[in-house]
Amino acid sequence: MELAVETRGLGKRYRRTWALRDCDLTVPAGRIVALVGPNGAGKTTLLHLAAGLLRPDSGEVRVFGHPPAAALPEIGFVAQDTPLYRDFTAAELITMGGKLNHRWDAAAARARLGRVPLDRPAGKLSGGQRAQVALALALAKRPRLLLLDEPIASLDPLARREFLRTLMGAVADDGTTVLLSSHLLTDLERTCDHLIVLQDARVRLAGPVDELLDAHRTVVGPRAGS
Ligand code: ATP
Repeated sequence: MELAVETRGLGKRYRRTWALRDCDLTVPAGRIVALVGPNGAGKTTLLHLAAGLLRPDSGEVRVFGHPPAAALPEIGFVAQDTPLYRDFTAAELITMGGKLNHRWDAAAARARLGRVPLDRPAGKLSGGQRAQVALALALAKRPRLLLLDEPIASLDPLARREFLRTLMGAVADDGTTVLLSSHLLTDLERTCDHLIVLQDARVRLAGPVDELLDAHRTVVGPRAGS
C-alpha cells in the first residue's frame, strides 16, 4: 500500500509545551482521511508539519516517501479561513494561478465552480462559494496530496455537503489523497475512508471510519449536531 503521509515519533513544541507529541501515523494514498479532535489538539500543527511549513522538534514526516520540502510541488494546502484576494474574481484568480504554475488545470477549476459566479469579486461571494473557490484553486495545482485545515467548520449544511462532494469528485477522478482537519464529525463519516483522532497533542485512535466511529464517540463525546 502506497503511503501519502508517514510520521515517526513526530513532535513539535512551543517552549515547554508539546503541540504534537510522539506521533506515528500513516495516510494511505488515494484516500480521504479526517484528522479530528477538539480545539488545541494539534491538528493544525500536524498539517503544517506535513506541508513543510514547520520544522519538527522530534521525529520525522515523509510525504510520498520524501521530506515535505522535496515533495512541495505535489502538496496542496488550504489554510484555515483562507483569505482569497477579495478584489479579484474567481475567473481572474484561476488565470493568475495558471501564470504561476505550469501544472495548473484552469479548465478543471472552472468546471468545478459550475454554480459559483466566476465574474464576481471573491469578497462579494458567500462563505460557501469562497470555500469552493479556495478548493478549486488548490485542486487546479493537481496536487497528489491535499491538506485542508478546518475547511468545513464555518459552512452551513448545504455548503458543507457541496464542498465535500467536490472533494470526493477530485479523489474519484484524479486519485488525490486528502487529509483534512475538523473538530466536527458531521458529514465526514460519509465522506472519509479513515479517521485519525488527536487529543492533547497525541494520536488517540487511527483507522478505517467504520471501525472507529464508536470508539471516537467514547473519547471525544457525541458528534456535534447529533
Ligand atoms: P484549533 O482547531 O483550535 O486550531 P488544533 O487542533 O489545530 O486546534 P493546534 O493549532 O495545532 O491545534 O495547537 C496545538 C497546541 O499548540 C495548542 O495548545 C496551541 O495553543 C499551541 N500552539 C499552536 N501554535 C502555537 C504557537 N505559534 N505558539 C505557541 N503555541 C502554539
